[in-house]
Amino acid sequence: MTQRKQPDMACIVCGNTKVAGLEGWHATCPVCSYESAALTDAINAHTGPEVNEAEREAGLKALRLENFRVIVQYARKHAPPAGRRLLDVGSAHGWFLETAREQFEVLGVEPDAVVGGRAAARGLPVRSGYFPDVLADGERFDVIVFNDVIEHIPDIRSALGACHERLDSGGILILNLPSSSGFFYRLSKLVARLGWKAPFDRLWQKDLPSPHVHYFNPSNLRRLVAGQGFELVEAAELPALRAKGLLERLRCAGNVPLVSLYVQYAAILCAIPVLRMFPSDIIVGVFRKKAAG
Ligand SMILES: [Zn+2]
Repeated sequence: MTQRKQPDMACIVCGNTKVAGLEGWHATCPVCSYESAALTDAINAHTGPEVNEAEREAGLKALRLENFRVIVQYARKHAPPAGRRLLDVGSAHGWFLETAREQFEVLGVEPDAVVGGRAAARGLPVRSGYFPDVLADGERFDVIVFNDVIEHIPDIRSALGACHERLDSGGILILNLPSSSGFFYRLSKLVARLGWKAPFDRLWQKDLPSPHVHYFNPSNLRRLVAGQGFELVEAAELPALRAKGLLERLRCAGNVPLVSLYVQYAAILCAIPVLRMFPSDIIVGVFRKKAAG
């Protein structure tokens, strides 16, 4: 079960005092717009409400794979020319590892023993446990990637510090995460203010085994990561909706009558070009490790 705890009111990005947000567990920084949630995870506990995560993941797979291909291109473009070693933190089902291993020597780290074990059984190099604890002393990488992971890590500064330590000179850190500037997130805040909180709760993954604890926008993310010894080399958006896989994604959203399913599908297909005019809900930051001193 997701539990609540007393929120710490200092903003992790700029240090100013956060103010109460839209729910008891939500807070926002009035200075840099960073948002936090006092929600705790229950990975490996498997006691939460039985969400059919497998179905949800299948619906998202096509979108993820398209976005992963783009991220591998960023990794190749910015990694040191001879850099081969790539670490995927929170490698989940191993889809990113499968995409990246054509170009890199990959390693995944996954805290959920069941999910990580399944990926390892498919022959993928996955270690069960938390980053950086499961790494050997002196184990270093040219690229470290977090796909939908960094927003779940409470002590994000320590995690970024560990990335700095585990990257070789010129190594790059790639963060792929939800954006608080995104169209759907801002819409969810609007409807939450009007009294319908379900979409907002869903975007924070409240009551799921691993809720989000941070929401960044491109600017406060850059500031936080720069403070840990990195420089931004590329910032981009990835589409939160693609036509490919959309029907499967809608189908696993629940028991929707067929006609209504196709009406939704058609409506969203038409909306995709319009949505592209607004900030996307998925952002990517590519950061290079700065030399010490
Ligand atoms: Zn702040």
